[in-house]
Amino acid sequence: MKTKFKIYSTAVLFMLFLFNSKEIIAQESTIYNKESQVTIFPVLWQQTSAEYRALCYQAFNFATLRLNEIPKKEIKKGNLAIITDLDETILDNSYVGAQLIKENKQMTDAEWNRWTAASKSTAVPGALAFLQEASKKGITIFYVSNRDTASVKSTLIDLKNLGLPNADAQHCLFKSNTSSKEVRRLTIAKEYNIVMLLGDNLNDFKDTFEKKTIANRFLATDAEQELWGKKFIVLPNATYGEWVSALYNYEHKTDDEKEKIRRELLKGY
Ligand SMILES: [Mg+2]
Repeated sequence: MKTKFKIYSTAVLFMLFLFNSKEIIAQESTIYNKESQVTIFPVLWQQTSAEYRALCYQAFNFATLRLNEIPKKEIKKGNLAIITDLDETILDNSYVGAQLIKENKQMTDAEWNRWTAASKSTAVPGALAFLQEASKKGITIFYVSNRDTASVKSTLIDLKNLGLPNADAQHCLFKSNTSSKEVRRLTIAKEYNIVMLLGDNLNDFKDTFEKKTIANRFLATDAEQELWGKKFIVLPNATYGEWVSALYNYEHKTDDEKEKIRRELLKGY
């Protein structure tokens, strides 16, 4: 009887796993969380709080500190690279969120693409000075972004307008078939020694954070405790990201279901 139950429960678990895998694949995320209502507080925080600005400077000050710790003989080898994400790490896109709120619209791929095609991003505070300093030292910058490869051209206009280094197609590794950045990181690692990674989403650093539950995202973060502020430099983003998808376990939910889940996740006292 016990064995029968064991077989039955294993089968149920396997079916649940298959169901969830299917959901996960179907929810392959773009930069913003698809069909999501952008809410006013995080956008206002990014655009008006001096605290957001200070956090960005803090991140890039740490990055500069680590840059200056790299021994000269390592830099002389000429094969050092920094991998950085773009959106909400180097480029500020809060304007598209603000515009959608003003127009009472949801974020969609079409809205996002319209925004990136306009090449109107500004630089995150501290980003430009840091990347220019790294480049001056002889370190190569790679922009590993989940913007579509089709948007490389319009993004390069942004990068060039802002005066960012290595602003050419060879240094822009955008999303072609998978949102995971691991393959792109490994491609760079074949030729370069990656000394630092920068991002606002933990998937910008390592694949151990991808498509994990909230609890497992915490565990994976704790496992890398020593690297935050050292090899891994994190920028703040309260508007969107994997953390939002994790709320709903990467599954499609209606607005009402989402609201219910959000309330259930709140920890009171
Ligand atoms: Mg980003």
